[in-house]
Amino acid sequence: MANYRDQGIVLRTYKLGETDRILHLLTQGRGKVRAVARGVRRPGSRFGGRLEAFSHVDLQLYEGRNLDTITQAELLAPHARIRTDYAASAAASLMAEVVDHVAQEGERDHAVFLLLRSGLQALDAEPADPAIFVDAFLLRLASAVGFHVFTDACAVCRTPGAHVFLSVKAGGALCADCAPTGTRAVDRPVIDAVALLARPGEWTVLPGLARDQPAARATAASYARSFAEHHLDRRFRAYDAVPRP
Ligand SMILES: [Zn+2]
Repeated sequence: MANYRDQGIVLRTYKLGETDRILHLLTQGRGKVRAVARGVRRPGSRFGGRLEAFSHVDLQLYEGRNLDTITQAELLAPHARIRTDYAASAAASLMAEVVDHVAQEGERDHAVFLLLRSGLQALDAEPADPAIFVDAFLLRLASAVGFHVFTDACAVCRTPGAHVFLSVKAGGALCADCAPTGTRAVDRPVIDAVALLARPGEWTVLPGLARDQPAARATAASYARSFAEHHLDRRFRAYDAVPRP
């Protein structure tokens, strides 16, 4: 069995036996990894508190048939504030649940890794309203795995423009010609809010959206949830635990 080293973010942990824990990790090099940390729940464990949920760690592991085994762990970013705040912790749990669902074992996905890392960093910076980062994360994650939401062009015919029909199934904004009867029309600020949520890399602008456009944000948030759940084919259980203004 081979030893290897990789960076990973702890998605979730399960107790195993009296003193061990199973971890789901998103690694930089190997996609999702399921690994066991032996003795981690024993007082004075050599892992200390380094393998908590949402921690970004540098790991040594050896491969097993079903589970790899963690032999060393060094903290790169503990994201400790997230675990002390209920709303941030609920938001991070939702991010981890979505990533756990889409990530594949043995398939490196650098975009998803970077997105999760930046989303957790945003939550660790003590935001007043962690839910807005969840809204953004859902659309950005969907885009990273191939379901990009259209906001500047019709999702069907690709005609550019400020369209006002909005569809989950069709993948975003629709022009009047492509919108099936019954498609709902929304105020343009809603589509602008969806565009801002989906734009890669921007986290610091999100609190401003939450503050300045509460109505558009609320509609865009429920759209983001429906969009992600439809295209990723799963209802996210942790979503309802995230406090919303
Ligand atoms: Zn069209």
